Formats: sequence, C-alpha cells, structure tokens
Amino acid sequence: MKKEHRLLLGAHLSIADGFDDSIQQAMSLGCTTLQIFTKSNRQWHAKALEATEVKAFLAAQKQSSIAPVVAHASYLINIGSADQALRSKSIDALLLELERCSALSIAYLVLHPGSHTKTDEMLCLAIVADSINQVLARYTGNTMLLLESMAGQGSTICYTLEQLASILKKLTNKKRVGICIDTCHVFAAGYDISNFEGYQAFWQAYDNILGIGTLKAIHLNDSKKPCGSRVDRHEHIGQGMLGKETFKLIMNDSRFFDVPKILETPLDDRGDFASNLKTLKGLLSKETKTALNCS
Ligand SMILES: [Zn+2]
Ligand SMILES: [Zn+2]
Repeated sequence: MKKEHRLLLGAHLSIADGFDDSIQQAMSLGCTTLQIFTKSNRQWHAKALEATEVKAFLAAQKQSSIAPVVAHASYLINIGSADQALRSKSIDALLLELERCSALSIAYLVLHPGSHTKTDEMLCLAIVADSINQVLARYTGNTMLLLESMAGQGSTICYTLEQLASILKKLTNKKRVGICIDTCHVFAAGYDISNFEGYQAFWQAYDNILGIGTLKAIHLNDSKKPCGSRVDRHEHIGQGMLGKETFKLIMNDSRFFDVPKILETPLDDRGDFASNLKTLKGLLSKETKTALNCS
C-alpha cells in the first residue's frame, strides 16, 4: 500500500500568550507542525505547568492538524560542561524539560549538545553522552531527545557529523535519541549544501555516518555568514548565503517528506514567518505537491 504523506512545515512560535495560543498561531500561518519553548529559554527557573494550561494545549492540539509538536530546550543547559555544578544543574534542567514535554504530549525535544569551555572537544563529547545516559535513566516518558547540529561557534561541539555520531555511539539506549539538522548551522560549519553536488554529498555522508533514520527534524534557516565561518546567524529563506536552491532541494526530497521542517528565521522589516513559509511553499514542484496532497 502507498504511504500517505503530508507537507510537514512549521515555525518556532511564542508561548507568551499561552501554550494553546501557539497552536492557534500555527494554524493561522498554515503550518502543519510547530516548535516552542516549554519555558523561558534564558532562565533556569520554570513555573510549574498548570493543569488548565496543559488541558487547553492538548485540546487545541487535538482539534488542529498540527503534529508533531517539537520543543527546543533552554540555551543555558550545557550537559557537556566539565564544571560539575553546571553539569548537574543542566542534567536536572534537561530532565525537567523532558517531563514538561511528556505532559504536553510533545514528540521531540531539541537540545544544543554542549560546549567545552575550558576542556577539549573529545572530553566534552564523552561527558555529553554520559549525561544523556544519566538523564534517560531517570526519564520514563516518550519524548525523544534530538541533538542539534551546531555551527561550531566558540567552544560549541557537534559541528561535524562525526561528533554527533560519537555521542550516539556511547548511548545506552540509542532508540531514545535522534538528530535535528539545522541548514544554517551545517553550512556555517563548513558543509556547502548551497549547490546540488554539495547537498548530495552532505546527505550521503549523513547516511554513512549517522544513518538517515536518525534524522527526526530539520531547522530551515538561511545563513547570513559564509560556509565555514562557524558563525551562527539565521537569515530569511533565499536571502542569505545558502539561497533558494538548498531549500528547493530539501522541500522536494522524498527522504524528508515525513520529517518536520521548522523555520527559525528572523522577524524584521525584511520578512516574517508568513513570508518565509510562502517562499518555501513556492519551491514545491508539481510532483511533490501531488505526493503530499497539497495545492
Ligand atoms: Zn537550536
Ligand atoms: Zn542557529
């Protein structure tokens, strides 16, 4: 039997007006998936979830066609830190975020794997893997943790596919962790996916090193900075150094039909999520539209 696909396209939306409001925003933008923070991303503190807000969010999700919902973890978390105090604070914070995701029926939690500050990359990768094993030993929910590919800015790790693989290899339960690829980050990290050859080579390498099945989400962002700059600056789709070609290739790549694709583009006078969603939808070929049952 032929598998049914649908366009899985969304954006990172605000929960400032309530969790359920993020679903309404996604619906009015014409999204089919969505990413949120389940708490402030720049604070350790999280106000406990209230039963009423959870209920309203689950009801809104159920009534909508938004699925899956993806969450992004706080930027403060660094489970790769060699500083024991920061590391254990990060482990607790990550566990709490996973539990909030369980309560909100969120499928995936995207995490910036870590940064090494005073140590080295190899040690940091090993600490991250060990921290994840500790977190998952304490977590009984179903939300999958996704390690995000990074630009390699500062002492950030996981800017290569090999680094991501080295963490996955050390995990006790590999089925509970997947990967989120960010187009801006991989480009800034040095993978030139702005042309067909580079794009094909990148995904071939991905499949060889990580296995294509580990890919659970894609962040769609153009890049303000050149390939290899290792600087993480998101740009509107088609207005950056990647250009429309990369996004045309992704949007029409049948390997990614069932992978949620999420915008984290800027909000400024040159564009917003509505304009970037329109650009992306404009890149769909006739064949893709037929395969995804969309017009
Ligand atoms: Zn991120
Ligand atoms: Zn970024």
